[in-house]
Amino acid sequence: MSLTGRLVAWCAAGAVAIGAVAWAGGLDWADLTHLGQPRNVVEMDGQQIRIPHVDSTGERLAPAVPVSTEGEHTFLFDEGGEPVRLDPCVPVAWVLNPAGMPEGVEPLVHAAAADVAAHSGLVFSYEGATDEEASFGRLIVQERYGDRLAPVVIGWSDEDHTPDLAGVTAGLGGSTSITGAYGDQRYLGAGVVILDRDDFADLLSTQSGTALAEAVIRHELAHVIGLGHVEAATELMHDENTAITEWGPGDRQGLAIAGAGPCA
Ligand SMILES: [Zn+2]
Repeated sequence: MSLTGRLVAWCAAGAVAIGAVAWAGGLDWADLTHLGQPRNVVEMDGQQIRIPHVDSTGERLAPAVPVSTEGEHTFLFDEGGEPVRLDPCVPVAWVLNPAGMPEGVEPLVHAAAADVAAHSGLVFSYEGATDEEASFGRLIVQERYGDRLAPVVIGWSDEDHTPDLAGVTAGLGGSTSITGAYGDQRYLGAGVVILDRDDFADLLSTQSGTALAEAVIRHELAHVIGLGHVEAATELMHDENTAITEWGPGDRQGLAIAGAGPCA
């Protein structure tokens, strides 16, 4: 069966920006190394949560990817004319919730993560399976992951459980924009990818479905590192896709820029 006539729409990016306020409470070890700078805090579920301090050498983990192409690309968040990006000095930790995952897909998830890493110069680090449900309502700091921003969670759902997956939408992706532990610089964190198990099962039953399925996951991971949608139907970051499985020139440019943010 060919994919002719079958429209695979990806997603409405589900990113959120969280406003931080300065902390007025006690100090921890990291605060003592930043004396004079107030610790940023967010309120979640009625609790004040200190934005975790990032343990980093201050050096990029991998070289930045040179921008060698030009084309349409957008970013989900902009702050003072600069895109909000992940910290390239720490790994992009990610976990996978295998509940409901169609058979044979896990290698595609790993391949997609490796591909986005290669095109962005960010280092992705797989931390294994989780039982956390992938949801945009997740807490950005969770006991199960320790005192840090929660890793990117990738999970499976369907349109009954996740109405945004209705129809041909095969996935959703995004991240949270939040200040670092100190100062005003914003970073992305606690990303989420939700994939439609029914659409993936359909895709994988077609001849060219494997490449397209991996392209859907790459598209969602590109949202996680900050890319938004574009008008150009020749880019993978177009919000609908019928047959494209490779990054376009604007995608590549956007991915390289997304991976070249400042370190916390
Ligand atoms: Zn999208």
